[in-house]
Amino acid sequence: MAITRFAPSPTGYLHIGGLRTALYNYLWARKTNGEFRLRIEDTDTQRNNDEAMEAILEAFKWVGLSYDGEVEYQSKRMDIYKKYIQQLLDEGKAYYCYMSKDELEALREEQMANKQTPRYDGRYRDFTGTPPSGIEPVVRIKAPLEGKITFVDGVKSIMNINCNEVDDFIIARSNGNPTYNFVVAIDDALMGMTDVIRGDDHLTNTAKQIIIYEALGFDIPKFFHVPMINNPQGKKLSKRDGALDVMEYKRQGYLPEALLNFLVRLGWSNKDQEIFSMEEMLELFDPSNINKSASSYNQEKLLWLNSHYIKNVSNDRLAKELEFFDCHLQGHDKKEMILDLSKERAQTLIELKNAINIIINRPTQYEEKGVRKFIKEDTSKFMDAYLKTLEEKQESLHLACDYEDITKPFIKEFELKFPQLFQPIRIALTGGTQAPSVYDIMAILGYNEVNLRIRTALDKNFNKEA
Ligand code: GLU
Repeated sequence: MAITRFAPSPTGYLHIGGLRTALYNYLWARKTNGEFRLRIEDTDTQRNNDEAMEAILEAFKWVGLSYDGEVEYQSKRMDIYKKYIQQLLDEGKAYYCYMSKDELEALREEQMANKQTPRYDGRYRDFTGTPPSGIEPVVRIKAPLEGKITFVDGVKSIMNINCNEVDDFIIARSNGNPTYNFVVAIDDALMGMTDVIRGDDHLTNTAKQIIIYEALGFDIPKFFHVPMINNPQGKKLSKRDGALDVMEYKRQGYLPEALLNFLVRLGWSNKDQEIFSMEEMLELFDPSNINKSASSYNQEKLLWLNSHYIKNVSNDRLAKELEFFDCHLQGHDKKEMILDLSKERAQTLIELKNAINIIINRPTQYEEKGVRKFIKEDTSKFMDAYLKTLEEKQESLHLACDYEDITKPFIKEFELKFPQLFQPIRIALTGGTQAPSVYDIMAILGYNEVNLRIRTALDKNFNKEA
């Protein structure tokens, strides 16, 4: 039974790297019938903002990742952290450091001049004298002076960090506020985390957090540090590559299923399977199989997955999702036919909406290029004849095949090539030449509407200059 958490700092929107971390933690907790907790790391009051906090919760809701219990806010747990800082001071495992900013800066410069890595030199570690006046001290932890900090990372295997790489780092600032690594370790321990899955940008923090676990005698969780998501050129993913706010994916017409499927594969795999329903993810995901190397963001793959889910979710669901894009099909008597036809080629809900709109809205314009290419001098003549044929057979016109049954002989009789008739019909019905099967569109629109749209186009001479 794994107890996991997602612990975003609300300094910006939830981006897809964060959502991937959340997903992995979610899957692992749910798969093992454990718990998945959400903790907002909002101690950095200067950088936090409420809007970002709301956005994180909204994004969670959109993708349907549910968490257990109440959301925890670190800003409300200050008393707990201060209690543990005092405990470490009382036990002699932490100490006050009175070094001034200037002294620290001087030490740093000296170390840099000697080509050493800047680090605190431990000068107050065993200090027993009278503290200098006028300095509000920070609290530093007594980090081990020699040996190694060793832990087994579930992704990167054994990690050894030399103790001389970690100094007596600050656990409380001079205003008494605890520092980042301190509160993360306290919370993970008190909330009973068994598994911490997070980005490998946190790897260096882990050594510091382990020092805190050990100083307080807490159980150390298992760590899984997930490699970053890169852009296709192997560089850090930027906004331009797709490192967007998760809700931007909603606005761009992605289904949450597609995004989660995309993210589960960015860093984890199960043979060469690409499509994973939530049930399959829950059955198959295991953090031990997280890839060791960075993954590469692939927009084409995301679009491909999105079109897969658009084709495979129910039409009711699509109609519901389309409301967000101001496309209202609920209650439309041809809803099923319209969606069945339009979803075949749509990669996003926006494309789906556009495909639907060209069917349900009467065209106001006719695409110039198509008109130039397909509307010839004789077009109106055989289109008139075609309308007559439709009129004669109108009682029997219901399904796409009914339109096909009368159109094929018509083409033969008039010795036409298919595009000669189809493209003008397409333009008349939808305004352009890109629409799907003409027979299907005619079946959706019904005889009266087909007749009206073709008539109108002919009357307007397809907006062509006479
Ligand atoms: N708050 C950290 C972040 O947003 C995550 C901390 C963690 O997962 O340990 O990057």
